[in-house]
Amino acid sequence: MENISQCQICGESEFSEFLKCTDHFLTKENFTIVKCNYCGFTFINPRPEPAALQRYYDSPEYISHSGTNKGIINSLYNKVRNYTHNKKIKIVSEYSKGKTILDIGCGSGELLNLFNKHNWETLGVEPNSNARNFANAQYGIEVLDEHQINEIPSSSKDVITMWHVLEHVAGLNERMAEVKRILKDNGVVLIAVPNRISFDATYYGEFWAAYDVPRHLYHFTPDSIKKLFEKHGFSLIKTLPMKFDSYYVSMLSEKYKTGKNKLLKALHIGLRSNLKARKNKNSYSSLIYIIKNS
Ligand SMILES: [Zn+2]
Repeated sequence: MENISQCQICGESEFSEFLKCTDHFLTKENFTIVKCNYCGFTFINPRPEPAALQRYYDSPEYISHSGTNKGIINSLYNKVRNYTHNKKIKIVSEYSKGKTILDIGCGSGELLNLFNKHNWETLGVEPNSNARNFANAQYGIEVLDEHQINEIPSSSKDVITMWHVLEHVAGLNERMAEVKRILKDNGVVLIAVPNRISFDATYYGEFWAAYDVPRHLYHFTPDSIKKLFEKHGFSLIKTLPMKFDSYYVSMLSEKYKTGKNKLLKALHIGLRSNLKARKNKNSYSSLIYIIKNS
């Protein structure tokens, strides 16, 4: 295990225990999430060494890399994904000044394939070799391995996107520095991450599926995202809700909590989360952050 001695956002080194969580998805191992006493950033500590993290993704069910329609949750997920893909293209097109996109954590390339069809120049980065090869063979998309990010030319992209990716990245500040280097001066970054101050996070506590330890190394809030990006010379323009995530996360959380598919209960909690967030727009289950280079 690797001990994190300095907060990756503010650099201070005093933390308090925040929550103990189990890897409900795969190994049933326990992990501790700590909170920085200075800036409030929450992260797993200690955490598996970067090389040891890979085995926590070794499941055929790991949904980010599977196109399967098996099971009601997967099937719903795939339907919603088609809808959200189109929405993402709309949002990216609205905020970008040009049409070159780098999608870090592009999975099997479905979204980049749609961008291609809208005449974008696409490049993907994906650590999973099966997903990477699929994207290339199926859609003809150029996809690099994670360690090749440093080969991408500086100031070469109008948009860099990371959809539910940043919470998985072991070298957080190094990744931020690369994003800064690759983005054009007038470029934008769009990232989506789960929001640990959402109603569904509070309601489910240790069973909240978006804690997803140890695959999710960090548990961001609007405040920690703002601090992290400002530290690297960006500024936050806007946040947008991801309204389907509260339902999906609640379905998984109910399963972790009760061992059953409590769909109606999950829909109820998902709806409550979205309704509460109408009053506080920073409290949706997951948020899209639109960030500009500055
Ligand atoms: Zn801190």
